[in-house]
Amino acid sequence: MPREILATSALPYANGRIHLGHIVEHVQSDIWVRAMRMAGHTVHYVCADDAHGTSIMLRAEKEGITPEALIDGVWREHTADLRDFGVAYDHYSSTNGETNREQTYRIWNALVASGHVESRPVKQLFDPERQMFLPDRFIKGECPNCHAKEQYGDACEVCGNTYNPIDLINPYSVVSGAKPVAKESQHFFVKLADFEAMLKEWLEERRAAGGLQSEVVNKLKEWFADGLRSWDVSRDAPYFGFEIPDAPGKYFYVWVDAPIGYFAAFKELCESGTKPGLQATDFERFIRAGSDTEMIHFIGKDIIYFHTLFWPAMLHGANLRMPTAVNVHGFLTVDGAKMSKSRGTFVNARTYLEHLDADWLRYYLASMLGPTLADIDLDLKAFEERVNSHLVGKWVNIASRCAGFVHKLFDGKLANALPAAERVRYAAAACKLQACAALYEARDYAAAMRLIMEVADEANAYVAENAPWTMAKDAARRAELHTVLTLALNYFRLLSLWLAPVVPVTAARAFAFLADTPTRFEAADAPLLGHAIAPFHTLATRIDPKQITAMIEASKESLAATPPSAGTPSPSKASEARQALPSVSPNPVSPSPESRAPSPDFISIDDFARLDLRVGKVIACEAVDGSDKLLRFELDGGELGKRQIFSGIKAAYPQPETLLGRNVVFIANLAPRKMRFGVSAGMILSAGTGGNDLFLLDADPGAQPGASVK
Ligand SMILES: [Zn+2]
Repeated sequence: MPREILATSALPYANGRIHLGHIVEHVQSDIWVRAMRMAGHTVHYVCADDAHGTSIMLRAEKEGITPEALIDGVWREHTADLRDFGVAYDHYSSTNGETNREQTYRIWNALVASGHVESRPVKQLFDPERQMFLPDRFIKGECPNCHAKEQYGDACEVCGNTYNPIDLINPYSVVSGAKPVAKESQHFFVKLADFEAMLKEWLEERRAAGGLQSEVVNKLKEWFADGLRSWDVSRDAPYFGFEIPDAPGKYFYVWVDAPIGYFAAFKELCESGTKPGLQATDFERFIRAGSDTEMIHFIGKDIIYFHTLFWPAMLHGANLRMPTAVNVHGFLTVDGAKMSKSRGTFVNARTYLEHLDADWLRYYLASMLGPTLADIDLDLKAFEERVNSHLVGKWVNIASRCAGFVHKLFDGKLANALPAAERVRYAAAACKLQACAALYEARDYAAAMRLIMEVADEANAYVAENAPWTMAKDAARRAELHTVLTLALNYFRLLSLWLAPVVPVTAARAFAFLADTPTRFEAADAPLLGHAIAPFHTLATRIDPKQITAMIEASKESLAATPPSAGTPSPSKASEARQALPSVSPNPVSPSPESRAPSPDFISIDDFARLDLRVGKVIACEAVDGSDKLLRFELDGGELGKRQIFSGIKAAYPQPETLLGRNVVFIANLAPRKMRFGVSAGMILSAGTGGNDLFLLDADPGAQPGASVK
């Protein structure tokens, strides 16, 4: 049954450039959309720049331009970068548009009318000079814990502690340098508690239907443990965004109108008349509650709660459709580490394109992408080898080895028929590759690529066994040679067809050579016979390692050459978002078993070395008031000092005082998490499935507090 689908990628923030981390997501969604269309479904594919927020307002100010001018320039850059990576949106909009304002007001007014909005005063740090409230990342000062200077308002980058900006020593405003003062202001909140039961049910229902990964649902369930707090959705002027109706000086927080941007982009597409078969009236048909169309979001794992709690709550509160699926991917690392500006591995999309072919990275990413939240590593050596050996060596080479003989000896035409043995071979390969349709749909591109390369190996073995270059020397074997060339080029066509979603530009060149224009996977059902092909031109070249080195060098240079406003790490939307998270209680200790998806590959010793595992002696352990899951531990970490860690093992250890003196094992370099009860600085390891089936790991007597576990 053909399906009707609205597919989106997360909206890139309009205060910075597109880098390879963004490309993972846009390429993942683009491959999916192309594959679903080739499988016969109708997919509308939209995205937009997310153009609001304090960061954008301040950056524009610094550059001496209006925010509108800033976001226009960024929009042009973003759309060119994505287009040149082969990411083919039907429409790419901006959240700072009238359509988005109208949709935001519509949803807001519905939430207000149905009683899901409340208002109360909030105390926040205020810059008296600049006359504005300061997001955490716009306040700096001395860390109250380790006394490192120049730390942000929410967390210390030296000792890793998180804190309230009010606790910083000698705080100052990053905007003006002034000493901030605490000030009260009236804020609007969406009452998420109203949606708790609905969301729980929706999460489970979507998990069962395959619309949400189990890892995601399990993670979200931790947020429900202590109830969902109301979500602060307003910001005070000055703010670059939409003013809240009937509330002068109050603006919608950027994360309110960002997801509504999906609707706005789609509405503009419907009204544009640019897409055959899509009309203005289709917009309401797609977004109404109970619509039989689908809405599928692709996002990174840093913005899960926005898409699976806040966004569905807003939609439901406004009596609109809910997402059909929210597909979450991991982050990109380069050579096993976080992208780094100093090492040159923080690569902008444009810098990559100046040195390398977009299809090559698309293929490499596809070969790494599975349906889990696992991070994807761009191993530069493996990238070079895989592209050269798979795409050039196994795929493109089939055509380059056979094309000349077809033109020279057979007038550029394929044989009119194939003998039975070759027909069987073709049918077997075509049948095997059909499994790729389901793999694409399930976002298991890595498995699809493995299957395609298996068939490529069969094709190459066939060519090698029959050695057309030897056959061509014998005029008596012409018919046999014609058969071999015809089947080999049909293998090539099959591979091109199934690789097309991943490497669209190279596949288009392949089909130009074959003088064929298939748009559906079903074109694989029958081979091309008696068909004239076009002259062969090089379809692709190998990666020269020098190109990769040059890209890395250029990434180092482009950092040095970047103007200070863009070069200094400007607070991102995600960091601005941190303060808006409902303070719920994540359980830092016992991710349930399903939340750890098995990785398809082995890890290296370096991966393991990234975990700083230590022995900690329990010097205090107590139940936490108001939590039925948590125990509060204080550990002696030896050289690391004392550590407070919350651990969700109360059900297994109802008498916490019995744990005093134990030498437990904990992860010392896990990012601290601010919880309702205090900061949890690490994670204590235990074995088991959760609940009362949990057993602390500990070290034999003699192990010293702070000792490394290796
Ligand atoms: Zn510190």
